[in-house]
Amino acid sequence: MLDFHVHLARLPEPQSTAKELEKAGYKAVVVACEPWEWNASAPLFSKYPSTFTPCFGIHPMIASQILESDLETLKSWIQRFPQAYVGECGLDKRYPGYAPGDVQEKIFEFQAKLALEFRRPLMIHMVGDYRRIFQIFERIGFTGSNAFPIFHRFGGDKEIIKKAIPLNALFSIHRDSFRKASTKAALGEIPKSKVRFETDADESFPVEAPDGTKKAPYDIAQALIQNLKNVEENWQRI
Ligand SMILES: [Zn+2]
Repeated sequence: MLDFHVHLARLPEPQSTAKELEKAGYKAVVVACEPWEWNASAPLFSKYPSTFTPCFGIHPMIASQILESDLETLKSWIQRFPQAYVGECGLDKRYPGYAPGDVQEKIFEFQAKLALEFRRPLMIHMVGDYRRIFQIFERIGFTGSNAFPIFHRFGGDKEIIKKAIPLNALFSIHRDSFRKASTKAALGEIPKSKVRFETDADESFPVEAPDGTKKAPYDIAQALIQNLKNVEENWQRI
C-alpha cells in the first residue's frame, strides 16, 4: 500500500499517526511544501526511512512569500536526504503570481532545475493551464532523462497525458481525479505502470468522528488507508 502524496505533518499528532501507519504496512511519499513543514516532517523521515519517502518543495500558494534564503534551505534539505523528491511545486491560478513570467513560474523553475541537478523526481501541483508546465520544461531542457515529473492529483486530459508520457511521467490519482469529465475519460490512456494513488491528506482531512469527538491516531491511520483503497477501487472501475 503506497500513498503517493500525503502531508503527514499537517495531520494531528503526526508522530503517533506515522507509527500507526507504519504498523499497518502503509508506505508513503510524504510531502513538505513550505518551510515550517520541512522542519516538522524531517523527524518522520529520520525515524522511518524505509516507510516514508521525503518530498521537499515550495507550493505555489506561498511562492510570493519566499525569500532567497528559503531557496538555499530547500536545496540543503534535498542534499541532506538523497532519496528525497522535489516538490510539490507548480502553478495555481487561485494564488498570487500566477501570470506567465511571474513569481510562481520562477519558483517552479528553480525547483525543476533542482530536480535536474540532483536527478530527483519532481512532484507537480497544477491548477490552471497544464500546457505552461511543458513550455517551462522545454525552456530549461527538462526532457525526462535526468529527472521525471509526477503529476499529483492528476486533473489533465488526453492531450496532457500524450505530452507527459515521453517525459517518463507518473500520474498520481486522487479521489478528485474522477470529478472532471475530461480527466475521467482520459484516465484509461495512462499505462498501468505509470499510475499511482494518493490521499493528499492535509489539515482538511476529517479528523473528527460524526459525534464530534477527536479521532485517535489509529483511527486517522485507518481512514487514510480506506481513502487510498477507495481511490484504487474507483480507478479499477473505469
Ligand atoms: Zn499536496
